[in-house]
Amino acid sequence: MQSLKYLSAYSDQTRAQVSLLIAQHKLADVLRKRYPAAHGIRTDRALYDYIQDLKSEFLRNAEPINKVAFDSKIHVIQHALGLHTAISRVQGSKLKAKHEIRVASMFKDVPLEFLRMIAVHELAHVKEKQHDKAFYKLCTYMEPNYHQYEFDLRLYLTELDLSGQRIW
Ligand SMILES: [Zn+2]
Repeated sequence: MQSLKYLSAYSDQTRAQVSLLIAQHKLADVLRKRYPAAHGIRTDRALYDYIQDLKSEFLRNAEPINKVAFDSKIHVIQHALGLHTAISRVQGSKLKAKHEIRVASMFKDVPLEFLRMIAVHELAHVKEKQHDKAFYKLCTYMEPNYHQYEFDLRLYLTELDLSGQRIW
């Protein structure tokens, strides 16, 4: 069985199913079918607007977001390290005082669902610092399919590691 470092938190059964898809060279096809196209959010300005829209819909009373940006360094670090810690790096960092949200540049070339999952994750951190029950409750409040999208993002990271080729 593959090491599947991005899927270490999932059950043996789930990991076995993913291993089978990999062995059959079907993982990319499954993802492409589930998510036909990438979103069109390419600039920091567009990302800022997208995240502000989510915030006004779900977290209107939370502290303001000062800055939003794609960050190519997160991309580099993620690929250089390639650890299960990559997800937290992918999700970026937020300065406590200023509420700055950074999203790895690789999220320019993914389906909107994956970008939404990262955006929701970072927005939830404005209110909840830890990855605890309250945090995930807030994530699933903003996006009911949060856990599915996270899983599928991890499938894509796995596929990227194996093939080195983007799907979108
Ligand atoms: Zn987090």
